[in-house]
Amino acid sequence: MKYAVLDRGDSLSQELAKRFHELAAAQGFERNDQFPETVISIGGDGTLLHAFHTFMDQMHDVAFVGVHTGHLGFYADWKADELDELVAVMASAEPKRVRYPLAQIELETKEGPASYLALNEFTLKGVDGTLVAQININDEMFEMFRGDGIVISTPTGSTAYNKSVGGAVIHPSIPSLQIAEIASINNRVFRTLGSSVILPEHHHCDIISKKEQRLLLTIDHVNIEREDIHSIRCSVSDRRVCFARYRPFPFWNRVREAFLGYEVK
Ligand code: NAP
Repeated sequence: MKYAVLDRGDSLSQELAKRFHELAAAQGFERNDQFPETVISIGGDGTLLHAFHTFMDQMHDVAFVGVHTGHLGFYADWKADELDELVAVMASAEPKRVRYPLAQIELETKEGPASYLALNEFTLKGVDGTLVAQININDEMFEMFRGDGIVISTPTGSTAYNKSVGGAVIHPSIPSLQIAEIASINNRVFRTLGSSVILPEHHHCDIISKKEQRLLLTIDHVNIEREDIHSIRCSVSDRRVCFARYRPFPFWNRVREAFLGYEVK
């Protein structure tokens, strides 16, 4: 097996990364930082976002495994004290490969098009004031937004920023995008639905900038500031991210453990 390890950079994660390399060498795994088959992310869900963006161009060939150095995460489902068990099972068993939907973001700008993929979400905010934008769904005007911002999340990202702004938690087997508002202003001119909206994979939405404004785009943890954006199209990507699951950990158990605090047996 060709593998690479990415760690969060703190001393515990670095120590675990070193230990993983030792255990992996003993099993005859081949370390390959450029073209791995399996990427081990050690840290948290945030570390896995970094790993995803590092290997995004090889998405077709790579499967991710997440080790959490704190509480169990949504992407990181192995604990720090389970490293030996993880390497042993990687050496002896074929994983179940689960594939989760991603969000595709396509910008129309004065300088031409640009496109991105998000694992968690894409967030749009105004830099100097409120964001003013028209939202179209399937090429028809849906609402006129003014407020702090808009979060467009994937199903696996629905437990992240989306949840903090009141969006619903979506099971990752439902290929969809969720549009959630951050503090919308509602009056006669600007009127929004108020609740989040979930689009199926054959639908798309366009966010059309309605004034000269500097925009802050955040794709997972990556910030981009631009003032030349005309519109942004969001849809479910035809690419997917692959996770190697060496043991089951049902999504609703993760949700229960992360947010309700009940121990998962
Ligand atoms: P960060 O501010 O260091 O971490 C944000 C938190 O979100 C961390 O606790 C992280 O868990 C958790 N997280 C990440 N993905 C998640 C998921 N799919 N489900 C549940 N929790 C998740 O930022 P970062 O590490 O660079 O991560 C960027 C992410 O932060 C963005 O994708 C966005 O979702 C999130 N964010 C949330 C808010 C908010 O909720 N108000 C605001 C901005 C950004 P770990 O501790 O396991 O890494």
